[in-house]
Amino acid sequence: MKYVSTRGSAPALDFEGATLAGLASDGGLYVPEAWPQFSADEIAAMRGLPYAELATRVMLPFVEGSLTEDELRGLCQHAYGKFAHAAVTPLKQFDEQHWLLELFHGPTLAFKDVALQLLGLLFETFLSRSSDHLTIVGATSGDTGSAAINAVAGRDRIDIFMLHPDGRISDVQRRQMTTVLAPNVHNIAIDGSFDDAQASVKRMFNDPEMTGRFHIGAVNSINWARLMAQVVYYFAAALQLGAPERKVAFAVPTGNFGDVFAGYVAAQMGLPVEQLIVATNVNDILHRALSEGDYSTGTVTPTAAPSMDIQVSSNFERLLFDCAGRDGEALAEQMRGFEESKAMRLTNAQREGAAHLFASARADADDTARAMRWAYEQCGEIIDPHTAIGLHAARQAGIAADVPVVTLATAHPAKFRDAVERATGVRPALPARVGDLFSREERYATLGGDYASIATYVAEHAIEAG
Ligand SMILES: *Cc1c(COP(=O)(O)O)cnc(C)c1O
Repeated sequence: MKYVSTRGSAPALDFEGATLAGLASDGGLYVPEAWPQFSADEIAAMRGLPYAELATRVMLPFVEGSLTEDELRGLCQHAYGKFAHAAVTPLKQFDEQHWLLELFHGPTLAFKDVALQLLGLLFETFLSRSSDHLTIVGATSGDTGSAAINAVAGRDRIDIFMLHPDGRISDVQRRQMTTVLAPNVHNIAIDGSFDDAQASVKRMFNDPEMTGRFHIGAVNSINWARLMAQVVYYFAAALQLGAPERKVAFAVPTGNFGDVFAGYVAAQMGLPVEQLIVATNVNDILHRALSEGDYSTGTVTPTAAPSMDIQVSSNFERLLFDCAGRDGEALAEQMRGFEESKAMRLTNAQREGAAHLFASARADADDTARAMRWAYEQCGEIIDPHTAIGLHAARQAGIAADVPVVTLATAHPAKFRDAVERATGVRPALPARVGDLFSREERYATLGGDYASIATYVAEHAIEAG
């Protein structure tokens, strides 16, 4: 399988190359040159498979040329063997129509573990082939940092530097990162906001002084391998609910458009998907883009669902590329305009292409709290604020009663227990697997927000590329 850039001018790469590159050299994102197809019979034959085996079947066409089937199966068994639930991504029922897909049974309690546990193993496998060393640099407002650190802690040939804004993430989120004491994990609290941290990371990717000495890698969802791993649970849920004979709709709490784009990929591969409902909080750029064609950024409003407090959704570019004729040159032009003015109109072709599968909805603070209360009072389920935004969107989408609607549960409620307690009166307990989080030793550096001190720290602690 070859991967091409959404902006048309970077060289095509194989799966290994696209995984290690992250962003394409022309500023675009890698997508497969064509979508693999499964027939209805092939999908029916996936029923009842253990999750790691299903993952192997669904992902095999994407890794062709870079991993053998047995290598992929070994990595999937290793990655998904660590989940706290035998089904890995179990499905629960709310009412006659609505279902909950629990994606938070990994080590750090958010859906990002599903992809990052595999990505850590892919990095290690590919780096050992070339004797290379990868320096991962990232900024986090919470969930990505802990999931990425857990996935690469103690692995050969990788260092990870994770910046977080000092004092602006929850205690649970900070401790999930800073209590990992493996020597290749470097946590840095910076004096500044998440945007300051993110700006320093972006600058480092473009700093020849740093990129000349270190192979700098990315773990956010611009990395294709993350989206690929997320395609699997759309198949898992739909198969449980009657695919391929029966269509299923999904409601997805959305920030960077990675998770819901994986649902789009599943549909392109032949999974019968009725609709993908993009759920946003009041930071609603995607809702405006999908309903009115207006993709323009505003200022970020902090909400009870911080992992969705985002104004630019990187992966939306992948949809704009794929749903309107795959014209990389035209898209590069459109994205250059957006980067200058922070606003763009979708073309008619893009709006029509997206409308075949996508709908969207926005939930404010009241909608979110109401959805948490409905789940608890009507169904006995405690859900986190991100999931509640998805459930709100699912229940107002007007899907025909005979089509099941699956809301993706993106975080464990204990990760956001203050907001859950405010809405429901119940304070969810941390699961046993993270239970001693508050008695573990923490380790992290504290630096000023300026780029120079961050770059110096990374250069002093990283290992040069081989
Ligand atoms: C990252 C995250 C999201 C948003 O997912 P995207 O793939 O960025 O759209 C939603 N909920 C939670 C809990 C998250 O951590």
